[in-house]
This record gives sequence, structure tokens and C-alpha cells, in this order.
Amino acid sequence: MQDSARRESASPFQYPEPVALAELKCELSWSASRAKEFERCRREYWYARYASWGWWKENPPAERWKIAVHNRLTSLPAFAGDCVHRAVARWFERRRNGTTMSAEETFEETVALFREGWRQSVGWNPADRPKRGPTHLMEHHYAMELSKERTDALRELLAACVRNFLEAPQIAPARDAHPDHWRALEELDSYKFLGTKVYAMPDFAFMDGEMLHIWDWKTGKPRESDMFQLLTYGLYACERWSQDPESITVHAAYLATGEVKSKPVTLEALSSAQDLVSESLREMMDLHYDPDVDPVVPEHWTAMPEAAKCGTCRFRGMCDASAAN
Ligand code: SF4
Repeated sequence: MQDSARRESASPFQYPEPVALAELKCELSWSASRAKEFERCRREYWYARYASWGWWKENPPAERWKIAVHNRLTSLPAFAGDCVHRAVARWFERRRNGTTMSAEETFEETVALFREGWRQSVGWNPADRPKRGPTHLMEHHYAMELSKERTDALRELLAACVRNFLEAPQIAPARDAHPDHWRALEELDSYKFLGTKVYAMPDFAFMDGEMLHIWDWKTGKPRESDMFQLLTYGLYACERWSQDPESITVHAAYLATGEVKSKPVTLEALSSAQDLVSESLREMMDLHYDPDVDPVVPEHWTAMPEAAKCGTCRFRGMCDASAAN
């Protein structure tokens, strides 16, 4: 499942809430998932960050609104991963409140979230505002075939993720951490780096003595970029909580299998991660513009089509360069 996509959908900067619309400005900000999108395809990044900007001012709805609708699309695997994350967060919240949630209840919660999102997606109406909230699946939007085998496999995956979260011995330190020692639970936060907002959302973090443990729940397969993402949370912990860099251990928990990859953070690793963030951020800064004022420079936003990435890109239905059409 695509955990990074889940994080994008959780991002607060994609779809401004109506209350603050008048003062909104298209500001640059950085997150590990945004950086991944920037690397993957400049055109995709442009659609997501600039081309839909101001959709709420279009009356009647036109191109920017349409792009915003596509921007809000999520894939079935990313959505399933999001359901697992939310159910796990509820498990922790219940624990904080002194009650428990059995494996069966946690699974039922996951399935209920999944059904609710599915129902919203099936009922999506083109007149709906493209705001955060209701789920709109790419699979429905693009009328993709959804075989029973595929939905059965997803259900099994949800069950395996919940089971492994609750039973895998490697995850016991996170499950058993006392709520008084928790530092973070699925809260989106940010800090300033090079004058720009950098977003971070650790799934779970707790203190064990002087040592901070940061956990990330992964519902997909291990990827090379997973450790980098966790190191960016390490940077966040140093900035936000003044944590000593060498008193941090990061853990990527692959819930589909129960495997956990843990890594004590070193000053060197953290410094390399900071260099990468700095490089990525500077590249974004070079291309950043204000879509309310500045003209688009098309050569900055070149399409980078490849069948594999276009096939899962939410903008493929409107992108003339898509290799998936
Ligand atoms: S369809 Fe392909 S080329 Fe077009 S924006 Fe998406 S990833 Fe880029």
C-alpha cells in the first residue's frame, strides 16, 4: 500500500478551508511525500501544488476545479493503508483513556472505516466540492475493474496488518509503552528550515528513559525511501523537542508481515538526511512561484512519463503526456 500517498491526503495545504480563503497565499512547504512527488514527475507536482490553486474562486467550476478533483483522488491501496493507520490510532487513543480494544474490535473498526470511504467514493458527485473529507477513489473515478479477488486480497491484507500490529513481538515495545511516555500519535506538525515550513507526522513516538523511539506503520512493501522518511522525523524531533540526535531510534514496522526494521540514529545519518532535505527544498524553491500573480513557465514542469508511474498517477486522465492512456 502507498503510505506516502496517504500522507499527502492528510496534508493540510492541499485544500484550504473556506474560512481562510481570502488571506490564502500559495506558500512553499516541504514534506518527505511532497519531495517524492517532485522527484517522480514535475508535471504531477505542478498539478498538485499550483495548477489547482484558486479552484474555490472558479464560478462556474472550470479547469482548476477539475484539477483539484483529480488532486483529491486516492488509490485503493493508499486508502486501505489510511484505514489501518486510523484504526491503530484509535487503538492507542483507547489505551490512553484506560480502555482496551480487542483484535476483533480493531479489525471491525478498520473494516468500518473502509466501508464508509467506499460508500463515499461510490456516491461521489461531480458537483461535490473537491475538499478534504469524503473519499474519492481513483479506481471508481477511472472505472477500473475491481475483481472479487482483489477486494478479498485487500480484506486479507487489512486483517494481517491489524493482527501483526497487535501480535508481532517486535512491535510489543510500542504497544506496551505507557501513555505518560508518549510523544506523538499521528499528529501533523511542522518546523521551519531554510525559512520554509517542513511538515512531519510521525505515526507514534515514545520515550524510554532518555531514548526517543519513533515508529512508522507501513502497510506496503519495504522501500528504500522509508528510512529517509524516518530520519526526517528524527530531524523534526531534534527541532521540536530538542532531542539529542544520538538518543533516537527509528522503527519502520511493516504490518503486512510483522517485520520491523530498526535503526539507531547517528549524527552522520541525520546530517546526510538534512543535506538531502536541503537539496530537495532548494530545488523546489528555484521553481516556486505565486500562481495568483506569476505566469506559468511550462518548461519548469516537464512531464516525466513512465508506464509504471503514470499507471498509478491520479492526474493521468487529464495529462496529455501520460504513458498510461
Ligand atoms: S500521468 Fe505520468 S507524465 Fe502525467 S503527470 Fe502523471 S506521472 Fe507525470
